Amino acid sequence: MRIFCYSLVLLLMIIQTNMAAADTSPIRLVIHGGAGTIERSKLTKELEQAYTQVLAQSLTAGHAVLATGGSSIDAVIAAIVVMEDSPLFNAGKGAVFTHTGRNELDASIMDGFTRMAGAVAAVTVIRNPIRAAHAVMEKSGHVLLMGQGADTFAAEQGLEIVDPAYFYTQSRWDQLQRAIARERVVRDHDDDLAPPPLPDNDKKRGTVGAVALDRHGNLAAGTSTGGLTNKRFGRVGDSPIIGAGTYADNRSVAVSATGTGEMFIRTAAAFNTAAQVRLQRTPLAEAADNVLAEIAAINGDGGLIVLDAKGHYAMRFNTKGMYRGTIGNDGIARIGIFSEDETPLTLSPASAP
Ligand code: ASP
Repeated sequence: MRIFCYSLVLLLMIIQTNMAAADTSPIRLVIHGGAGTIERSKLTKELEQAYTQVLAQSLTAGHAVLATGGSSIDAVIAAIVVMEDSPLFNAGKGAVFTHTGRNELDASIMDGFTRMAGAVAAVTVIRNPIRAAHAVMEKSGHVLLMGQGADTFAAEQGLEIVDPAYFYTQSRWDQLQRAIARERVVRDHDDDLAPPPLPDNDKKRGTVGAVALDRHGNLAAGTSTGGLTNKRFGRVGDSPIIGAGTYADNRSVAVSATGTGEMFIRTAAAFNTAAQVRLQRTPLAEAADNVLAEIAAINGDGGLIVLDAKGHYAMRFNTKGMYRGTIGNDGIARIGIFSEDETPLTLSPASAP
């Protein structure tokens, strides 16, 4: 009997030790809400506050998943859904318009443990395209579905379907009229910052993305966008392309990109970053900077968020600013917009782990 009691106590101690160890495993979430010519002088205090608030909500939503032992995939979805539902970002509600006045949305997601991936391109009626990308990964047996077929698949999977008018916002519509008048294809975060006339080199984007590390040591990455204002002919950018806009591999890093999509495709930006880390052991920030330099060399720009399985991360961009933020075990959100700052913002204790 005594031996049995001793064994039981020992077993309980081992279980407790393991649970304590699990609790101290690093968790981390890093998000972006697009990069571009984002300058303090052009952003009103109110708008800055509004962006900061949505970024904080996104971080809180993803952190709540990770802090309670949830998966990095679920954290990425939770964080991105908040930004898709906000009209401030060029993803989901508030997506930019195509030349013909439609909203065609792209999204992708990847699991770093299994290297399973899912994506949708040019979808028009799915409220949260990141959920559709996840359904493609889990249920379709494919990686990328596009257009009407993807819309139908999402409806069959029971995802929320909306009237295309749901995505309409007046500011994006006005943005399209200006882009048409100037015969330009325009990246997002334009007109909300700088009322017309825009300088010709003005480049801002509102694509959203997230990378996460969960308590089990698994990485995930996701990206969602409306693409480019005034895009034509069924143009699809890097965001739904695995290896360009999104990549995750537990052996290296999870990556989400924002920027001039065509150049991110040509440089295989997300995979390129991950490959440098895995094969050459390049530090994260350096790998991201190398890729951004390659992109700059072919006249592109933008940003990358990168996270490894130990919780190290980098948020790099070669534009004036990038909406971005991160949160880890301590539950403190660090949010930045402009190049010079990364203002720490403490979340309520209830949301701390
Ligand atoms: N990369 C996106 C695209 O080319 C645009 C962006 O990041 O804002 O569709």
